[in-house]
Amino acid sequence: MKKTYHGSCHCKTVRFECDVDLDAGTSKCNCSLCAKTRYWKAFIGGDDLRMIAGADNLTEYQFGGKNITHFFCKTCGVKPFGRGDLEIMGGVFYGLNLSVLDDLSPEELAAAPLQYQDGLHDNWGEVPTEIRHL
Ligand SMILES: [Zn+2]
Repeated sequence: MKKTYHGSCHCKTVRFECDVDLDAGTSKCNCSLCAKTRYWKAFIGGDDLRMIAGADNLTEYQFGGKNITHFFCKTCGVKPFGRGDLEIMGGVFYGLNLSVLDDLSPEELAAAPLQYQDGLHDNWGEVPTEIRHL
């Protein structure tokens, strides 16, 4: 079931709220960006995220196929989410950084189902051969 959480970057300039169903699963990926940031994410729909403050303090980054726009706080560098628009994902979606949710407890996050994705080899449905570092 979806629950509303509040997220922020480190300097708190960027603030938002989002509706997340943690039971639907979370994921970690070994792609070149996720591996560098140890990005633990959940996918949510385009209507499930609402900016509260700091939208104008976000800067954007894209790489590879440029299917996803990664947003970073210009001040502190924390990435709260990426956004894409892909048919396979049902249209607009966010890859939410679960680490920026201020009212998600470590226990709740640790209890959420977790999948590993081999994004490094564009094999999103497969588990990478090494996952311990993710
Ligand atoms: Zn910030």
